[in-house]
Amino acid sequence: MAYSYDDQNIFAKILRGEIPNDTVLETEHSLAFRDIRPQAPTHVLVIPRGAYVCYDDFAQNASDAEILDYTRTIGKVCEMEGVAANGFRLISNAGAEGVQEVPHLHVHILAGRPLGRMLERG
Ligand code: AMP
Repeated sequence: MAYSYDDQNIFAKILRGEIPNDTVLETEHSLAFRDIRPQAPTHVLVIPRGAYVCYDDFAQNASDAEILDYTRTIGKVCEMEGVAANGFRLISNAGAEGVQEVPHLHVHILAGRPLGRMLERG
């Protein structure tokens, strides 16, 4: 699927420095910052600097350098936040049925409390 990117989304504004963020880690191609409405003691969002709507867009269209940097940044944030000791969850919502609020790729890193089952039947 060919995605069209809305450059007025809130994470695009964060990347342009138009609104503040609570940065955890910055790299050449990625930015990690704390979620403004944390759902667990650790709730960090990791985004690529490039204009990708969601994970499949990124996986199909990003450069090898961007993919390497993004994946390593997720790993580094997990290490910095110490999430491996008791377990954690990575989530990347996409589209309407995935209930994606912000149309710029982000992975949620959630940890610090029992997170329950991944999905309840709805
Ligand atoms: P999603 O539903 O997967 O698109 O998640 C979007 C996330 O972005 C939510 O968890 C929001 O709390 C978070 N969010 C929205 N605006 C901001 C912001 N300005 N800074 C940090 N996190 C934000």
